[in-house]
Amino acid sequence: MTTQTTRTTTPNPLSQGWTYAPAPESAAIAAVKDRYLPFVDGTFVEGHGDDAVTFNPGNAEPLATVSQSTTGDVDVAVAAARRAYEDVWSPMSGAERGRYLFRIARGLAERARELAVLECLDNGKPIRETRDFDVPTAAQHFFYHAGWADKLGHLGLGPAPRPLGVAAQVIPWNFPLLMAAWKIAPALAAGNTVVIKPAETTPLSVLVLAEVMADAGLPPGVVNVVTGAGDIGSALVNHPGVDKVAFTGSTTVGRGIQRSLAGTGRRLTLELGGKGANIVFDDAALDQAVEGIVNGIFFNAGQVCCAGSRLLVQEPVAEELLAKLEARAQTLRVGDPLDKNTDVGAISSVRQKTKIDELVASGADEGAHVWRSTAPVPDRGWYVSPTILTATAGSMRVVREEIFGPVLTVETFRTPDEAVAKANNTPYGLSAGVWTEKGSRAMAMASALQAGVVWDNTFNRFDPAAAFGGYGESGFGREGGPAGMAAYLEDGS
Ligand code: NDP
Repeated sequence: MTTQTTRTTTPNPLSQGWTYAPAPESAAIAAVKDRYLPFVDGTFVEGHGDDAVTFNPGNAEPLATVSQSTTGDVDVAVAAARRAYEDVWSPMSGAERGRYLFRIARGLAERARELAVLECLDNGKPIRETRDFDVPTAAQHFFYHAGWADKLGHLGLGPAPRPLGVAAQVIPWNFPLLMAAWKIAPALAAGNTVVIKPAETTPLSVLVLAEVMADAGLPPGVVNVVTGAGDIGSALVNHPGVDKVAFTGSTTVGRGIQRSLAGTGRRLTLELGGKGANIVFDDAALDQAVEGIVNGIFFNAGQVCCAGSRLLVQEPVAEELLAKLEARAQTLRVGDPLDKNTDVGAISSVRQKTKIDELVASGADEGAHVWRSTAPVPDRGWYVSPTILTATAGSMRVVREEIFGPVLTVETFRTPDEAVAKANNTPYGLSAGVWTEKGSRAMAMASALQAGVVWDNTFNRFDPAAAFGGYGESGFGREGGPAGMAAYLEDGS
């Protein structure tokens, strides 16, 4: 007698006519103020520029007013940072500096829920990401670097490495709080003081971080936050009173900063764009690879410098993988960033949405086939549905340029050499992923790929202890781990 077994498959919620009920986090948790001020010399002070308004990308409505700094305010902030460096922070013992960093880390953890909601409102990223990634990882950066503050002599830079002085830091809008933590924590642990400028469109969480630092008792002037657009960023990085510049943002702006700093003797690290390849071999666990590809390109709606924006798939499994991928991408819920069920939130600004739309249109014009999720999208706010472009060629703009949105291009390859050649055929060199069951192949690929980070059978994993950075047009210098600490220190051999 034979028994018949019934194979059940997980139903696709969208095809079954039901979906998750909305589960929005309350916006009130963020306690958004009407107006925010720059943070200089330990206090929140009026900037001398015209106020600017930040918007909630989730509904395209104004969120708060932010007093803007002027170049004169940058002078005041740099002078405060210099005083704090000379009088307080650099003479302080490493152990004592570490205690401040631990306090800041705990302060972030205490205000985690508020910060998660605020980041969601100001940036448009989903609450699941701000709650489970941005805010805890920001706290981790302070915890990790607090540990280094009294161990600088063990970094391999001699028994007594010296701090550089005042660090000018300019950060982008895609991970506002995390980028601030990522930059401020190593600078402070090494004994430098900081003037930081967040992006004009997403300054709120960094200004709340300033509150956390003030509550931790950080001495006045050790960290200063100036507000404003690119002109203020430019005034800051070119200020004669700064000793070190750390910039994360576009390759175009990074290139300009490198040019203007040439010959000044000031130390510089640049973390710029990317066009990461996610490479799937025919022996890979395909369902696992699908999850990694989804994470690689749809995390933070693809507004990630190390996004896996180019899928390279080996020919024998290309059709099967693509079918699985499109089916999975169709299940992603796009919409209200505050909703705990949302997978893909809003695009951070209308300017970025326009850029993404324009690049996708250019791909279609150049002959790419455009697949787009038909999942519903809110009427208001700045959204782009998950998009997969096939029939692409290495010459197309969508394959060459950083789209910085939820848009994946797909190419196929036959041999590992072809995969390497295609993956490296980019001026960028920030990230790559390799999906294979063979450890030896993963290691060989990692050596051949020109990328600062190569993930094996995973993607978008971050750890404050691991150095992150790129080469080529992705910039230079490392952030995180001992290498990231070294970027803020003078050799003390
Ligand atoms: P930018 O490089 O212009 O912005 C990054 C930061 O630099 C912001 O704080 C910005 O200020 C500031 N800035 C702008 N001009 C100058 C300048 N001349 N000197 C010093 N600082 C300056 O990036 P965009 O926001 O214009 O984004 C454009 C593209 O760049 C994106 O589409 C994406 O492809 C890429 N990008 C890459 C990022 C990465 O993580 N590597 C992050 C962000 C963007 P403000 O925003 O206030 O004008």
